[in-house]
Amino acid sequence: MVRSTFTKYVCFLMVSAALVFTSSGCSTLREAQTPSEADINVESAKAYQEVKSKAQLSTRKDWNEMVQRVAKRIAAASGENFEWEIILIDNPEPNAWCMPGGKMAVYTGIMPILKTEGALAAVMGHEVAHATRRHGQKAYARAIEEQQTAVLLGVAAGVAGQVLCKTENCRLIAGLGGPAAALALSFFNRKFSREDESDADQVGQIYMAKAGYDPAESIVLWERMNAGKNAEPPEWMSTHPSDTNRRAKLSQWLPQAQQVYQGVSQKYGRGSTIQ
Ligand SMILES: [Zn+2]
Repeated sequence: MVRSTFTKYVCFLMVSAALVFTSSGCSTLREAQTPSEADINVESAKAYQEVKSKAQLSTRKDWNEMVQRVAKRIAAASGENFEWEIILIDNPEPNAWCMPGGKMAVYTGIMPILKTEGALAAVMGHEVAHATRRHGQKAYARAIEEQQTAVLLGVAAGVAGQVLCKTENCRLIAGLGGPAAALALSFFNRKFSREDESDADQVGQIYMAKAGYDPAESIVLWERMNAGKNAEPPEWMSTHPSDTNRRAKLSQWLPQAQQVYQGVSQKYGRGSTIQ
């Protein structure tokens, strides 16, 4: 019922927009319903620019250097030709993400919990895998078709952001309006499917091994995260599938990742300790 009332409201807005902008209003909507990868990457870059200009960036030199080198190695290991970029945001939330197209962020809150550079590589491997396996694309297309059409058309983007966004970064980007706002809403409020989480775990483990980090850190990481369990768990710890199941699968895949790790010429083991 709520959906249908809202849909009617959105339709009204769409018709209004179409009347105001005539053909441009219609073509904007039609194109947006089937966004191409290039379109998504453009919006993603725009949204990322907004985060970069508004968020508090960390000035910790050692952590910044670590985050940069881990991201560089994971990106290279993925073999994906994205315009990669990473920032370290000064925020107590234990979080990390990679937008479609390779724009990444790590929050300072996750660093002390990780304890090692290898564990950071495991988290980034997982996040990067969501991007390279295009897990966010479906959610974005759905967001556009469904409830975020009003935001897409630039109508009341700020208001919609306040209502629909769960995180500060989402609200920040929703303020932009247009497709970037729809992207923010679908990306920062996302819940990937069980299959996609599992896929990101497996592919991420291979990425970290290829990048030269001991893939066993992907399993030890669970204990560290659980010990410091936060009320708002990071995307990486998304509760479905269950923790036990995910750890069991990571252990099951480990021999294959170890084989990849043995084959790389430059090994870093667990990397530096995070202090
Ligand atoms: Zn995930």
